[in-house]
Amino acid sequence: MSYVAHEYFHNFNVKRIRPLALGPFDYDQANLTDMLWASEGLTVYYQDLLLVRAGLMTRGQYLEKMAGAITKFENASGHRYQSAAESSLYTWGAPRGAPPGGGDRSTSISYYDNGAMLGALLDLNIRNESHNRKSLDDVMRGLYREYYQRKARGFTGAEFRSECEKAAGGPLTEVFEYVSTSREMDYAKYLAYAGLRVETAEEAAAGAFLGVNTKTQDDGLIIADVASASPAQNAGLAVEDRILTLDGAHATAKSLNDLLSAKKAIDKIKVQFSRKGATQEVEIVLGKNSKRSYKIAPMDALSAFQSDIGNDWLRTRQ
Ligand SMILES: [Zn+2]
Repeated sequence: MSYVAHEYFHNFNVKRIRPLALGPFDYDQANLTDMLWASEGLTVYYQDLLLVRAGLMTRGQYLEKMAGAITKFENASGHRYQSAAESSLYTWGAPRGAPPGGGDRSTSISYYDNGAMLGALLDLNIRNESHNRKSLDDVMRGLYREYYQRKARGFTGAEFRSECEKAAGGPLTEVFEYVSTSREMDYAKYLAYAGLRVETAEEAAAGAFLGVNTKTQDDGLIIADVASASPAQNAGLAVEDRILTLDGAHATAKSLNDLLSAKKAIDKIKVQFSRKGATQEVEIVLGKNSKRSYKIAPMDALSAFQSDIGNDWLRTRQ
């Protein structure tokens, strides 16, 4: 049923509601877009939302599936290296059989999976910001009217964002930062808008922990996020630092991931990086790597506002 709902929803999202690059096509040219997270990801988001709203899936089943998707995404190393926008853009040039984000599986993500979670975060953010008067449904309807019916064309990324922020009645800075960077997503904050809490459990995993998320820019490896109290933060690494070498070898997303996979806690690595044009080197004692599992459960005490958002979102009573 999810699969049927997915393909049916494409009649709207992609066939009619679409980024400029997705038609009309010039088949002699590459059709690059950084918005497949919206075209495919939001379709994945709606496939299950439609089932729960139609009563074909329970609220519990829906939240369990979402928690499973978060667990899978967070335990795959790719989320430390690639954003949803990059995953969308690079898929065109990916070799046959490569994952959706192109290139190496350990350093790329799926814009389907990540896009679906971004859809949930956007939806909950819009509901909270608009005092539960608007939702992602209004965004989809607005895009359909403005770009399919009125202008008869696709939309730009800025136009898509503007439609979302119009519905919210204010800026959605953080969620759009999640779209374009590898920053860690604060699921708990957004699910709390619907009266839900996120429970996590950790267990030891192979490899070592450094605590940075990166982006690849102009062939350089730039730090996009630093986990608090992590080995990276303790050693003084910061957002926007450019990692030059790791144990003396040229740094790439793949070499960083391979190095951390081969190390264990208390092992040391030498990181050379540049900050504002000055080169520095630090030796970092790596930390314990862990796997995290996520569960989503109703809060014990929730406000009428949280309860309304949850009920309107899933069209079911808590
Ligand atoms: Zn699809």
